[in-house]
Amino acid sequence: MSLLDASPSPFHAVAECSARLTAAGASELSLADEWDSSSVDGFRFVRRDGALIAWKAPTTPAPAPDILLVGAHTDSPCFKLKPNPNVQHYGWHQLAVEVYGGILNNSWLDRDLGLAGRVVSNAGKTTLVRTGAIARIPQLAIHLDRGVNDGLRLDPQTHLMPIWSVDQVGESVVEHLQRLSGFDSIAWWDISLFDTQPAARLGSARELLASGRLDNLVSCWAAVAAISVTSHTDQLQLIVLNDHEEVGSASTTGAGGPTLEQVLTRVVAARGGSSADLARALSRSMCISADNAHALHPNYPDRHDHGHAPQINKGPAIKLNVNQRYATSSTTAQRYAAICERAGLPTQVFSSKNNIPCGSTIGPITATRLGIDTIDIGVPQLSMHSARELCGVDDPVTLAQSFVAFWS
Ligand code: ZN
Repeated sequence: MSLLDASPSPFHAVAECSARLTAAGASELSLADEWDSSSVDGFRFVRRDGALIAWKAPTTPAPAPDILLVGAHTDSPCFKLKPNPNVQHYGWHQLAVEVYGGILNNSWLDRDLGLAGRVVSNAGKTTLVRTGAIARIPQLAIHLDRGVNDGLRLDPQTHLMPIWSVDQVGESVVEHLQRLSGFDSIAWWDISLFDTQPAARLGSARELLASGRLDNLVSCWAAVAAISVTSHTDQLQLIVLNDHEEVGSASTTGAGGPTLEQVLTRVVAARGGSSADLARALSRSMCISADNAHALHPNYPDRHDHGHAPQINKGPAIKLNVNQRYATSSTTAQRYAAICERAGLPTQVFSSKNNIPCGSTIGPITATRLGIDTIDIGVPQLSMHSARELCGVDDPVTLAQSFVAFWS
């Protein structure tokens, strides 16, 4: 819950994960520096914008050990602030925003919203900023929209523009962000809107977890928590937290970008290995791609294949799709299920209905880029891509334990 609350943007998620890794004994390497065998040894991490890679080096001196990789993503669907954000309409000050990823429009109505992310000064310096609750997308009253309960239609350009002040505004939103940044001026930004309500536990036994960005910060949390407690083994234990999954992963810091492959190449090279050694290692390696799954929704049972519909708090779901929207194969599924069974951890299976195509995730992209055996799994949740999602409190812990078992 503290990680969720500390991570209103991918940049904040990377800062928070870096702090946790550092507290667990990891040290940061710069992507711009030269690496030798001692610099890639031990417990290390690198970061770039909204992405992070961390690893525990193997105890063996072999230049290209087997790689046991866990992947997740730092981004979530939201609104982002446009370059000219100040809009004045009918006595209101509003924010010009752009939709990022596949949001559930209605879930953003009537929430107390904040702004968070990275700002860039005129001199090119960057820093993170975060406001309190300052904005809101107010829903139209039912008296002015009598048919609303027969179907709510929201135009993302006109109906989802947040208000943040009435006409006696003191400072513009840019001035506000600048004051928080401590910079003399700010030139550009990557700013997300977020629901300021903190994560909370619900349910008669407090068995449910409600928060924004559960997809996919619960997997980021599990990956960071797990690699922080594992012992070094003969394998290279590695986590990759990518940005831009929600918009297709094709970016420098997305799973479709080159960063992971470059880091693996450089780690192997620093240990005295060649690109052929890395290719041989990848053929023996495995990737667990962790991204949340759809739990069975009791109000919409017709949307699920009941033989393959995971339930909350019954373990991570192994996600299968023969059309390769998920990268799981029979062999990777067997391997992960056996690891969990040996560790006494439950697993479930997810497969979508044939008439409701499933989403995709970073697993198939990583498998395609690296040629690494991959399994797609994830914590079952409801309200995926809502501003406030819902999962169980046990499943993220089981997920983390399964990573520890994978690396052990
Ligand atoms: Zn996701």
